[in-house]
Amino acid sequence: MELRANNVSKLRDGYFDVLILGGGINGAVSAASLAAKGVKVALVDRGDFAGSTSSNSSNLAWGGIKYLENHEYFLVDKLCRSRNHLMRSYPSTVKEIRFLTTIQKGFRFPPFIVYLGTILYWIIGRFATRAPKYLSPAGLSKRDGVIDTALAAGGFEYSDCYLYDNDARFVFNFIRSSLNYGCIAANYVESMCSERRGGLWHTQLQDKLSGEIFEVRSRVLINACGPYVDTHNQLAGQDTEHRHLFSKGIHLIVDRISETHRILTFFASDGRLFFVIPMGPKTCIGTTDTQESSPEVEVTAADRQFVLDNVNAILKLERPLTPEDVIAERCGVRPLALKGREGVADWVKLSRKHAIDINSDDQHLSIFGGKLTDCLNVGDEVSDIVAKLGVAVPFPAKRWYGEPSNSVKEEFMHQAMLMGLDDMTNASSSEPLTQRLWRRYGRSALEMLEMIREDPSSAELLIENAEYLRCEIEHAARREMITKLEDFLRRRSKISLVVRRDDIINAPGLKEACEILFGDEADAKLQEYIAATA
Ligand SMILES: Cc1cc2nc3c(=O)[nH]c(=O)nc-3n(C[C@H](O)[C@H](O)[C@H](O)COP(=O)(O)OP(=O)(O)OC[C@H]3O[C@@H](n4cnc5c(N)ncnc54)[C@H](O)[C@@H]3O)c2cc1C
Repeated sequence: MELRANNVSKLRDGYFDVLILGGGINGAVSAASLAAKGVKVALVDRGDFAGSTSSNSSNLAWGGIKYLENHEYFLVDKLCRSRNHLMRSYPSTVKEIRFLTTIQKGFRFPPFIVYLGTILYWIIGRFATRAPKYLSPAGLSKRDGVIDTALAAGGFEYSDCYLYDNDARFVFNFIRSSLNYGCIAANYVESMCSERRGGLWHTQLQDKLSGEIFEVRSRVLINACGPYVDTHNQLAGQDTEHRHLFSKGIHLIVDRISETHRILTFFASDGRLFFVIPMGPKTCIGTTDTQESSPEVEVTAADRQFVLDNVNAILKLERPLTPEDVIAERCGVRPLALKGREGVADWVKLSRKHAIDINSDDQHLSIFGGKLTDCLNVGDEVSDIVAKLGVAVPFPAKRWYGEPSNSVKEEFMHQAMLMGLDDMTNASSSEPLTQRLWRRYGRSALEMLEMIREDPSSAELLIENAEYLRCEIEHAARREMITKLEDFLRRRSKISLVVRRDDIINAPGLKEACEILFGDEADAKLQEYIAATA
């Protein structure tokens, strides 16, 4: 809480070269890139960082295989390059995974033709992953017995990538990195409106915790409000070439339904790609794709039933899944960039490219569309544009992303091995502690080793099945701007996605976790969470 309070006071009546509105993936990479390059930058989000679309994705870093059907070869080429770049930059986080795809009899293409598409995809992806493999229905069953092959014409296995922890954690790590380079970022601070006066942006911000309103001045304003970009542009008097359309997508999380570590892929009854994705000890199923006129959406009974019906139809489960099996839900809108104000979009062909509209006169940027997969390009583009707008960028060549160097990793692994860290891994954990701590914290994981050496109880699990040690919660309390309990349970960690709400609330360690995170406010924050999730 101290980190946030300090940053809010630094924002108050401050001046920055660049103010970024929105701490989803697009705002987070913009902040990380600009701050590392030496620009004086601030970022605010009216909710938690990654609290909107960027915590409701399918968690895939993928080259967009499905866009091949629309012959969008340049987009697939771009996304494959972005995926490969992410894979190389974040080898512990962005991991290759096999997609086991079943093609049902009567599908719009025979399986062999779709398989040829995966070969093309592999070539466009510059062979950065394992090669695709064609499979008969018997081959599919052998790979994963849960697939119902009664109506299968055939299938194949190909590779793409996924985000090991989750999207929100991935985004937060960019926010954390921007803080390391001096960015002043705060969650729960909303931009109420912005006005260009005297060659500067004057933005009215409201601290959502205290209700206080104050002004921040900046030379450049970046609107990275995701689905709310158009709304804020109206508040700032900005007329843009692009606008957003919205497509709702939901995911359901249930107990693990496949024992193999693969993503099972099908075409749902509406003809769109449908995934069964491993999520730690659970399985995440989705997604849907429905046109919406507003970004304010929620999971409806019909959405839930669509996902359950599809998964029940294509898998051989001991018993069909019902709404009672759902542990948690994810729901968001894809903000899709559409050029021009008039006309109706071709919904199927509307691709997921990003676009940055620049108003050089007003020094204003609006980031439309995009994907998590393309985030490094967005960060690079934004810092190039800011430099072209005349803002001094003292360290333009500074590398602003990626895991720490191998020498840091080797030192961490060596120290961890000497103290027997992996032997302390709890039996419920899905991976050894060394892997988890390195992936989540990089260089800061060395501090955790020191905490465990000082006090071995730091390596204890506080909440069963949560895969979070006491020292991780202490670290989060100091460095991860956890303002509400939900920030920790849903976004810095994925605890509330994999543990049922009642089990979390009744977990013996939750009270202690709240005390570490919130000190004197522990009880109030716990009650706030209980009320908000009732
Ligand atoms: C169902 C689904 C599945 C997807 N799957 C994938 C996938 O597998 N791989 C992939 O690469 N991409 C995927 N995407 C796309 C990807 O998630 C989005 O493109 C991306 O997260 C958008 O990020 P953003 O930063 O633009 O928006 P957001 O994450 O929505 O961030 C915008 C932020 O702005 C804040 N904000 C709004 N108004 C204000 C204001 N006035 N003041 C301050 N802050 C404000 C909001 O609180 C929010 O946190 C998926 C999307 C969906 C919905």
